[in-house]
Amino acid sequence: MGLLTLGASDTLARFLKTLYLETHQADILACNVCSFKYCREACPVYDIVRSEGVAPSGFNHYALGILKGMIDYTSSAAEQIYKCTTCGACRMDGCVTPGFGDPIDTPRIIEAMRAEIIERGVAPKVVQELSRQILEKGNPYGASAEVRGSWISASLMAKERGDVLYFMGCTAGYLYPAPAQAALRLLEAAEVPVVLLGNREPCCGLVLFSIGERRKAAELARQNVQTLQAMGVQEVVLSDAGCYRALKKIYPEELGVAVPFRVHHITESLERLVSEGRLAFKKGLEQTVTYHDPCNLGIQSGVYEAPRNLLGHIPGLKRVEMKKTRDKTRSVGVGGGFEFIFPEMARELALRRVEAAKAVGAEALVSACPTVEAHLAAVISGQSGLLIKDVTELLMDAL
Ligand code: SF4
Ligand code: SF4
Repeated sequence: MGLLTLGASDTLARFLKTLYLETHQADILACNVCSFKYCREACPVYDIVRSEGVAPSGFNHYALGILKGMIDYTSSAAEQIYKCTTCGACRMDGCVTPGFGDPIDTPRIIEAMRAEIIERGVAPKVVQELSRQILEKGNPYGASAEVRGSWISASLMAKERGDVLYFMGCTAGYLYPAPAQAALRLLEAAEVPVVLLGNREPCCGLVLFSIGERRKAAELARQNVQTLQAMGVQEVVLSDAGCYRALKKIYPEELGVAVPFRVHHITESLERLVSEGRLAFKKGLEQTVTYHDPCNLGIQSGVYEAPRNLLGHIPGLKRVEMKKTRDKTRSVGVGGGFEFIFPEMARELALRRVEAAKAVGAEALVSACPTVEAHLAAVISGQSGLLIKDVTELLMDAL
């Protein structure tokens, strides 16, 4: 059989073993005849490891081998397949194979392989543990659910039902509340009444989905939608880029779970409130900042301008761009559970982003996601001379 011909009988025979990968056959075949390999330079993990095994093209060679039954998911291969932050930079920047239409969607192919790894029960131990933690504790940090959002005031928790729900996410709930606290104060300043779930707030399920736990992620998504519907929610506002992508994209597009309410990232909501004259920033901030596009907000969800436009409303603030931004952003190492599985590589990616910010003369590296900010702040521990901030925190300072 020729390398690129996958016969119907082969496909049928391997159906159960390649349940998720089959749907990406065209992309996988197209990538395997590409000689450009621009994707390598777009990939932050390849940039560290410098091995074809973790290049986007390498993942697609592997996927073809699986589809054709030439190789299998051994335990070492399974570990390799988690060496991707699912940032999507390879999709936007690298694929220029003529005649194949859309760019090759390598992160989707990697997520499909992970789903098959989970179905076969050959996931690395650290992945199995992460999955167990999310399912048992309701968050990837292994923290007790009772303390989720313990910083939320009783008055904010007083409302049981409402049109607008603010979803804080696991990172703000347990680890790093500052961006969520700023978001709530800005919404209050604009007189937007919000309802919160506090310690009843569930995990959005993005990490579960990304590590390959599709069926459990879908179950969680269905439960989450039902919970919010029962509260009469019409709109969900989120600060965490990962949670935003989960509700906006993953639930309806990947898990088949309809989302019957509007989903907005906090920067989208605040930008609208500013344009309606309900929020204004009067205090000047004489600071040079650079904005980091979180992969889940930018490349994966298409929100690039709202955070930048908001920063533009702060008097005196000077914004400079790093070399790789917007759809060419460089992952800081969070996404798809990467920081839990490969903490050292995640740390290295964060340090590289910090250096990129310093190289353009920024005094603060600003993002729009508590998970990104928590990771960057933990990695530099206040030692690099660079401030780590969320857009909402700067806006609060300028109110
Ligand atoms: S999604 Fe990001 S980390 Fe994964 S292969 Fe593509 S560029 Fe590399
Ligand atoms: S991922 Fe894109 S650029 Fe890279 S080898 Fe495949 S088709 Fe070519």
